[in-house]
Amino acid sequence: MTDAFSSHARRLAKLIQEARRIVVFTGAGISTESGIPDFRSPGGVWTKFAPIPFDEFMASEEARRESWRRRFVTLDPMTSAEPNRGHRAVAHLVRQGRVSAVITQNIDGLHQASGVPDERVIELHGNATYAHCLDCAERFEIDAIKRDFLERDVLPVCDACGGIVKSATISFGQAMPAGPMARAEKETRACDLFLTMGSSLVVYPAAGFPVLAKKLGASLVILNREPTELDAWADLVIHDEIGPTLGAAAGVN
Ligand code: NAD
Ligand code: ZN
Repeated sequence: MTDAFSSHARRLAKLIQEARRIVVFTGAGISTESGIPDFRSPGGVWTKFAPIPFDEFMASEEARRESWRRRFVTLDPMTSAEPNRGHRAVAHLVRQGRVSAVITQNIDGLHQASGVPDERVIELHGNATYAHCLDCAERFEIDAIKRDFLERDVLPVCDACGGIVKSATISFGQAMPAGPMARAEKETRACDLFLTMGSSLVVYPAAGFPVLAKKLGASLVILNREPTELDAWADLVIHDEIGPTLGAAAGVN
């Protein structure tokens, strides 16, 4: 452990101790240590594929086919990933009553898998571990869809209403989920420390929450390997790995 690193962790630990109510905000970077690639790092998902916007998914069977193909090839490692030290440190702070909510852009379900209760996780971009009907919201399990798609080349259709079935994630061009957005705003308004980790903070409206927290007087901490769009706004910026840094600050291995 270098001196610079331990002084970061110490400063972070002090802010965490002094806070009354913390909101944790996470992006793809918290899950890279679990082996799930993020979007923008070298080798990340977007260096290989351009995203499929929602209107294309709806308009074209070929786009839906390509979307499911990617789900089962690129995103499949997600379903077998395990939470890492960063997730465990967050779960520890939630258990201690320090963190009121975990707002996440991630779709991998790893905060819940690390022991954060469902009601404390706010998913802004949905969840890739299941699918749902876009018309009636009926839930479908990925395994059955995967079998039909890979073995019989069949695209999923809702057996309740005939609607299009899509992974329960939010695509570019798709409306943000109203309930989670409202809860995230409420939590952001109530916190006095907003801790963002592993997000490049370029995807809006999600990146609006750290801005809102700061405007309302909360302390803003940014823990990210690389500089982010909002570094200049933050009270503490740490350019380092999440697991070791937050793990040390929270006393979790
Ligand atoms: P992003 O890829 O834009 O940014 C991730 C950031 O995390 C990068 O700046 C990178 O430098 C940093 N990072 C990566 N590993 C790190 C580590 N171990 N320690 C510290 N920093 C690290 O991701 P984003 O801001 O979340 O936005 C992209 C969108 O991608 C999100 O909306 C999300 O829905 C989606 N996504 C989710 C997953 C997932 O669920 N695990 C994976 C890929 C993409
Ligand atoms: Zn339906």
